[in-house]
Amino acid sequence: MIAAADLTLLDGFERALINHRLHMVYQPKVSLTDGSLKRVEALVRWDDPKMGAVAPSRFVPLAERHGLIDQLTNWGLTTSLRQWRTWHDEGLDVCIAFNISALSLQHLDFPDLVERMCRALEVPTDRLVLELTEGATQPLVKLMDTLTRFRIKGIGLALDDFGVGYSTLMQLRQLPFTEIKIDRFFVKDLAQSNDSRVIVASIVELAHGLGLTVTAEGVETEEQLRYLAEVDCDVAQGYLVGTPLAPEDLEAWSKDWAKRWADGQFLDGKVKARALPRTVRI
Ligand code: C2E
Ligand code: CA
Ligand code: CA
Repeated sequence: MIAAADLTLLDGFERALINHRLHMVYQPKVSLTDGSLKRVEALVRWDDPKMGAVAPSRFVPLAERHGLIDQLTNWGLTTSLRQWRTWHDEGLDVCIAFNISALSLQHLDFPDLVERMCRALEVPTDRLVLELTEGATQPLVKLMDTLTRFRIKGIGLALDDFGVGYSTLMQLRQLPFTEIKIDRFFVKDLAQSNDSRVIVASIVELAHGLGLTVTAEGVETEEQLRYLAEVDCDVAQGYLVGTPLAPEDLEAWSKDWAKRWADGQFLDGKVKARALPRTVRI
């Protein structure tokens, strides 16, 4: 049975979805080698007139449980691809990363639908990366066929929230991922926890050995950014670099970020690899 509070939320969400009252924001992800903008992650937002801003962590699971997730996915993906086309026409070439619920991957024809969306909006498929999270109910390994279809079409696949929950090393070996995202749980502790530092450095080395790009999420401090660069992590995302932005604010962010990076504010001096304890090197 659905709780009264959830019912109110679900009802409000359904109306917001139908009446186009959701919007997307875009968070920058930058290269730790040269500071360039690599991707933006599209994140859905719902500002309800009565309830105010409702977090996706509240309404996405509800949409999954009550049959609205495909509608949310289709709306969000179309909106994000359309935004890519606008940016591209303005001279900005950036990849869009989009969060996909494992439930939407259950339809075998979903990769064809995504490809048709890309074609209709003239977005090259290699400009799209889908971010997937391993869940308790729908193991990604069961979706191997669908994931392979995406890769054949040139669409990138990132394993999100790596290192927490249900993600395993086995998935990295078995599934056709192009990228992993280290969960911010490990990033937030980098300054205080030697364990987190060792885990992050080891994940980067392991992922590189498997030919995967590594993004660290939740980067909030210069110290975290410096350490991630030291251990050769490829891409950083987090409030230090930029918060999720309205699309029209990306250009101003880009100028500001280029200046901050050029000033050497983050990686001043040569970044030297910090030696890891031998016993934990892989
Ligand atoms: P996620 O994919 O792990 O997204 C990253 C979340 O971390 C976002 O929260 C983002 O705003 C937040 N974040 C980014 N940088 C920092 C930082 O430096 N520090 C901290 N503390 N947080 C940071 P958000 O937007 O509330 O999204 C939460 C989750 O909701 C996402 O986690 C994703 O799983 C889901 N989600 C968001 N948008 C969509 C969507 O369009 N479709 C689907 N299926 N899920 C979505
Ligand atoms: Ca994500
Ligand atoms: Ca994540």
